Amino acid sequence: MKDFFKTCKFDFSVANLKQLPGQSLGEVVFAGRSNSGKSSLINALTGKKNLARSSKTPGRTQLINFFSIGENLFLVDLPGYGYAKAPKGIKKNWEALITSYLINRAEILGLVLIMDIRHPLQDRDLALFDIFLPTGKPIFVVLNKADKLSRQQALFQQRKIDENIKSFYLNSQVLAFSATRGIGVETAKKLINRWLTESD
Ligand code: GDP
Repeated sequence: MKDFFKTCKFDFSVANLKQLPGQSLGEVVFAGRSNSGKSSLINALTGKKNLARSSKTPGRTQLINFFSIGENLFLVDLPGYGYAKAPKGIKKNWEALITSYLINRAEILGLVLIMDIRHPLQDRDLALFDIFLPTGKPIFVVLNKADKLSRQQALFQQRKIDENIKSFYLNSQVLAFSATRGIGVETAKKLINRWLTESD
């Protein structure tokens, strides 16, 4: 199978929807709370240690960051949510931008939602399911930091969360994962590669 991740590199950032690329053939979107390990996940998938650090450099943290993974295909890193430092007005504008992008962008192939396996399905996570539901597109839930649990606990948690999510979002898949230990990396790559191949 073609490995799209190998060629991944930071491409550009956008601050509003008018700046979105016209040429895109497909976008895989990554979202999650700050500190859930979104950058670590992107680095683990691409095998590049500091790739996603670029999205954390000041100024880029409130932007939508595009990583190119092939001819007009992109990984899209949304800003982490949860730690509210921005003033309320700015946050509102920002949320409207993300919501509009997720709902209206036809090029989006699917959403990868990263959560800490020990603290899943918080309010802002649930809000994302609601926003994305009308698109009918798949959500891949990555339960990161599985190394903090025993293997058995992690699998139990994966099953429990999967059952819960399926009750309100059928087009979903849930995976126990550890960016630091490399648990689930191959499975995650396969799934995302499938989204990309189908669009290719
Ligand atoms: P982001 O804010 O969502 O991009 O999260 P980061 O990738 O910066 O990770 C946040 C913190 O969680 C860092 O201290 C990472 O070292 C740690 N972390 C990330 N992935 C894992 C994991 O799989 N296991 C453990 N134990 N820690 C992790």
